[in-house]
Amino acid sequence: MTNYFDMSEVSSICPYCGVGCGLKLEVVNNIIVRTIPDSSHIVSRGHICGKGSTAHEPIYSWDRLTYPLKREKGVFIRITWEEAIKEIASKLLEIKKKYGEKAIGFYGGCQNTLEEVYSFMKLARALGTNNIDSCARVCHEPSAMALKEMLGIGASATSVTEISKAKVLVIAGESITESHPVISQYLVQLKKNGGKIVVIDPRMTGTAKIADLHLQVNPGTDIYLFNTVANYLISNNLIDEEFISKRTEGFEEYKKTISSYTLDEAEKIVGINKEKIIEFAKLISQKKVIFSWGLGLTQSEGVNAVRAYINLALLTGNIGTDGSGLIVYRGQANVQGSGDIIKPNVFPNGIMNEENARELEKIWGFKPPTWVGKTVTEALLEGGLKALVLMNFNPVISMPNRNKVKKVLESLELLVVIDPFMTETAKLAHFVLPSAMWAEKEGSVTSLDRVVKWRFKAVNPPGEAKSELEIISLLFKELGFKGFTSDPKEVFLEMKEVVKIYSNLTLDEVMDYSKPSRYPVNDTILYREKFLTPTGKAKFIPVEYKKMKEEGLILITGRTVTRYNTDELINRTPGFNSFKSPLYINPKDAERLGLKDKDIVKVSSKCGSAIFTLSISNEVKEGSVFAYMHDPNVNYVVCDSLDEESKTPKYKYTIVKIDKVKLY
Ligand code: SF4
Repeated sequence: MTNYFDMSEVSSICPYCGVGCGLKLEVVNNIIVRTIPDSSHIVSRGHICGKGSTAHEPIYSWDRLTYPLKREKGVFIRITWEEAIKEIASKLLEIKKKYGEKAIGFYGGCQNTLEEVYSFMKLARALGTNNIDSCARVCHEPSAMALKEMLGIGASATSVTEISKAKVLVIAGESITESHPVISQYLVQLKKNGGKIVVIDPRMTGTAKIADLHLQVNPGTDIYLFNTVANYLISNNLIDEEFISKRTEGFEEYKKTISSYTLDEAEKIVGINKEKIIEFAKLISQKKVIFSWGLGLTQSEGVNAVRAYINLALLTGNIGTDGSGLIVYRGQANVQGSGDIIKPNVFPNGIMNEENARELEKIWGFKPPTWVGKTVTEALLEGGLKALVLMNFNPVISMPNRNKVKKVLESLELLVVIDPFMTETAKLAHFVLPSAMWAEKEGSVTSLDRVVKWRFKAVNPPGEAKSELEIISLLFKELGFKGFTSDPKEVFLEMKEVVKIYSNLTLDEVMDYSKPSRYPVNDTILYREKFLTPTGKAKFIPVEYKKMKEEGLILITGRTVTRYNTDELINRTPGFNSFKSPLYINPKDAERLGLKDKDIVKVSSKCGSAIFTLSISNEVKEGSVFAYMHDPNVNYVVCDSLDEESKTPKYKYTIVKIDKVKLY
């Protein structure tokens, strides 16, 4: 009989979005019976959303993978761990010998701990490849690139806990109520304190409904808006001259670039009347303004949109003080951490050069290669590699142009998938290795506002499933490398020695949810005294608005609060059925196309098509349609056009045509 007096309480961090809420897992007889909020957590402060409170449910799904599988003649057969590791290692070495190390890639990790991502990256480099990346590439790589280049660190410059101190919170391309619900508590406090919320979004989202000012921009025109606002601020002397002269560089060139952006043109291009643009400019000309953003910026106009937005924070001197700064709304529990550690063009200890390679050799016992590897989007959309190891990554559903990704994966000589479930991607693998889920192992994760916290192990994994650290450790040994540990605490200590920006962290602080534990300094605010660029100054980077190459009806994709990414976890949570998104369309577009509410329509792009039920809605701007990204059919339609610099897909800008399906 279950004795509830034997219940233990284990601290953990939510496995879903990047807020990183603190959880208490109630455990009886090696089973998590309930998940409740941890009131001591410095950011979530006793709040969790519906996803957090049911986060333990998928762990007990009937279809957990419990032993290694090998595909033979199209059928998966059970094999032992010994056989799996031996065969995978031997195939990797064979491919390396035949095609060279550049034919091998290691991708994934945003659902993993820092220690797992670090070890995965180290294993790839031990094998001699820099074809490594995480799914941070497909979401906020443009943010990380622009922030690092302009300010010094590719992460939020302030914390969500600062929102309540701000006078104005600007939210661009993000709906907090849908994507990061627990942050809403800070929006409520901001409003109570008399602060204002500005939302920039082509859709009337849940967050836009509570905003004081909603700028319903035309998709793909944010850069024009930001440059026009900058021109207005400079022309009307609404800028912080002292901050600009003492703490920034590049202002004169920037000023010249934005001088041609006018309110009259903005009205036409951005689709917002000039009074609203001026109101926005005046609001952000104050002190204590936080500029925050989500995928609406990065997955349409890429790095340049983020640069243009950060320029506004520099212009108004809103960085480095209480109640001001920049926040990037990250979508997955450790996507910030993964992006910090695993990239094909940088080392974990800095830029990719001989000196840093030699420094790594001293710690690792082998010298990593210095050639620039393929990003995950290049590897999965262009193809050309022969062997891939994917860790908790389901690109067949999550990547744009699904059909193309599937073909690339099918062409591989070796595909290894490490996952707790038989995903659509795992079905294509030669080997599937069953991994432990978040509460069945321990390790640290980095939140969207630089808080690093430890997840403690609550229960054992089922059957023969192993933690990724154990799996990587077995592969490491079998491949003939030395000096690798599967102990998460030891890996954490090595990681913080290697990853310089994490060097200030201590395990004591990381393990105590009531203590702040932020990197690279343990402060909610970055850049109080100086920026972390080589000169110590922030850089204005002028960018020009470029009209999108293709025009027409634009498909935008986004999140809803009850679902999560590819829905592998939510579909395994009791009470949630598999999800089918409607296609939302503005009444004027529906009328023009002769369509009615609930019509069954075929949505086609140059990449593929899918069937949707139409939902006529004023919440969508004329000229665009909207579907939820969690519907697995959506990425048949979303095209694989990439931002030139970051190689991030433009999930929020696909030209489509809509045809009514005739039902007989
Ligand atoms: S807001 Fe995000 S981190 Fe917090 S409980 Fe919800 S899904 Fe989890």
